[in-house]
Amino acid sequence: MIELKNVVKEYPNGITALKGIDLTIEQGEFVYIVGASGSGKSTLIKTLYREEKITSGIIKVNEYDLVRMKDRQVPYLRRELGVVFQDYRLLPRLTAYENVAYAMEVIEKRPEEIKSRVIEVLEMVGLKDKIRRYPSELSGGEQQRVAIARAITNKPSVLIADEPTGNLDPDTSNEIMEIIERINQQNTTVIMATHNQSIVNNYVHRVITIKHGHLVSDQEKGAYRYEA
Ligand code: ADP
Repeated sequence: MIELKNVVKEYPNGITALKGIDLTIEQGEFVYIVGASGSGKSTLIKTLYREEKITSGIIKVNEYDLVRMKDRQVPYLRRELGVVFQDYRLLPRLTAYENVAYAMEVIEKRPEEIKSRVIEVLEMVGLKDKIRRYPSELSGGEQQRVAIARAITNKPSVLIADEPTGNLDPDTSNEIMEIIERINQQNTTVIMATHNQSIVNNYVHRVITIKHGHLVSDQEKGAYRYEA
């Protein structure tokens, strides 16, 4: 479970990006975070994996209290979370296989386990025939598939995605959504910030709308309502 109570985030430059967010997300839910550019979506997402510390309030992810935890505990929190970004963020000198394997090597998984799991997740995202390719030899959609494989290889309880289809055409975006849907069906919580109106309306889930740092609506099975 993820719990935020009265979360405020003020950046050092004085901008208050989150102005008292209250939000509870149960294990296995799929939640979109929508809102205009600059509304605070990325900041909210960064607070969840403790890329940003909050200024005040309470934030808990599973058994971790993100306010009280020590910096040295952050790697353990991150093992529970898989994160994907709009710009994929693959390591350019590693192949698809190596990018995914690296995420398991850093937490010291056994080599035999790494090999079978990496092949399994790359197969799951439909890339089994391209495991030896470098990111530069893959399309945007294929790179995002590798990034998703990397994010789930250690079986996180939550998949966090910040505009995962932001650089992709509509057909490729739908393919990525089908993969994310399948991951969610296996009881992985999905939290996805997006601007993509047709995705939010076609793959219907809970919708949280952020405006100027406030949570202005929270709808079960919501539809995207554009607010300028
Ligand atoms: P969104 O993801 O909805 O576009 P952001 O969370 O990126 O919104 O930004 C929310 C507000 O916080 C904006 O006013 C933005 O300029 C500001 N902001 C974001 N990141 C930083 C930062 N690292 N330092 C200072 N201000 C920031």
